[in-house]
Amino acid sequence: MNRQNVTVLGATGSIGVNTLDVIRRHPERFGVFALCANSQVQRLFAQVREFAPKYAVVRDAPLADELALRCRNAGLSTTVRHGVGALREMAAHPEVDTVMAAIVGAAGLEPTLAAARTGKKILLANKEVLVMAGELFMRAVREHGALLLPVDSEHNAIFQSLPSDISCGISACGVRRILLTASGGPFRTLSRADLDAVTPEAACAHPNWVMGRKISVDSATMMNKGLEMIEAHWLFDCPPEQIQVVVHPQSVIHSLVEYVDGSVLAQLGNPDMRTPIAYALAYPERIDAGVPSLDLLALARLDFEAPDPDRFPCLPLAYAALRAGGTAPAILNAANEVAVASFLDRRLPFPGIPRLIEATLAALPAGAEGSLDDVLAADAEARRIAAGLVMEAGAT
Ligand code: NAD
Ligand code: MG
Repeated sequence: MNRQNVTVLGATGSIGVNTLDVIRRHPERFGVFALCANSQVQRLFAQVREFAPKYAVVRDAPLADELALRCRNAGLSTTVRHGVGALREMAAHPEVDTVMAAIVGAAGLEPTLAAARTGKKILLANKEVLVMAGELFMRAVREHGALLLPVDSEHNAIFQSLPSDISCGISACGVRRILLTASGGPFRTLSRADLDAVTPEAACAHPNWVMGRKISVDSATMMNKGLEMIEAHWLFDCPPEQIQVVVHPQSVIHSLVEYVDGSVLAQLGNPDMRTPIAYALAYPERIDAGVPSLDLLALARLDFEAPDPDRFPCLPLAYAALRAGGTAPAILNAANEVAVASFLDRRLPFPGIPRLIEATLAALPAGAEGSLDDVLAADAEARRIAAGLVMEAGAT
């Protein structure tokens, strides 16, 4: 068995920590080449001490100096680098086989694209990459022979439920539709009036999953499902009409694929990200992920309901952006990132999140998603407009 050399982008986050937990269980299979994070030096240092990577990357020079000093004092030989250029290098390095893309948000686009352009095995958690630049990214994957494996639990479930070769298109494989399950988030049962007063703390307390703050808020608004619908569209080349969102509060069925003969295949499991991470790391083999057995008897029942577009308008906004095409999903994503950060800073009420995204999309016409520069320009312009709208709202 060849030992895989892995770069973890976003090592200190929720997905990064779970990835290292799976890697820790299989030292004969995986070696850590680079650990990359933003600013959590203490946590990254503990990871560097345990996994002894060749490189560690942080956001800027002062943080890199701090980490390098700690490494030297501990007698570690890890080289510390900083900045976006270093992230790209760690993703594209010739010694790297596998890249776990687990940075949150648009910051992950460039390094993940660098991994695609160098034909790596990419374990994709960072869904914003596909939302912003799906066409560009999938083309890079195809042209450079990269292997793209979805880590998002729903997409991993769909991947496991589809035939192994879908190159002829999913309809030709007999797929009628994809059923994307959603937990509904912590505010699933709240009324519109109650949503006005929800706090960042309540939004980040997800009923089933422990995740980073941004994706937790995305789950609470259901933008997460909107982003995932766009992600599914690009991953499986599936038109939006063939992707149906079903609310399933227990988060045990991670998604389903319905075939023309009426068969419905699904993947089930405890809500633990180590399952899809382990599946993607070892694909096509199966390895222990440290996840306990699913206890169906304790669970007793599984519930399903339709999403409510009136209380959770982010989901229809995402369908509209995908149908509009071009840079519209990148604009949606950028406006969402500004809106979520503003909500977390208490500068925007919870229902202000979809309002801000809608206003940004209305103010900025979508262009063609030609090049990376087109995408980054749309992203920057959408952030400028959305930030201006937040300021205006605060001033009135
Ligand atoms: P998180 O906030 O816990 O971690 C984010 C990681 O990215 C951290 O290591 C942070 O240091 C790093 N990071 C942030 N900005 C950076 C920058 N500018 N440069 C370099 N590194 C940067 O987030 P998470 O919950 O682990 O989510 C990561 C990604 O995975 C997101 O795109 C999310 O949507 C997706 N995802 C997460 C889960 C989950 O269960 N947490 C499930 C499915 C998909
Ligand atoms: Mg998901």
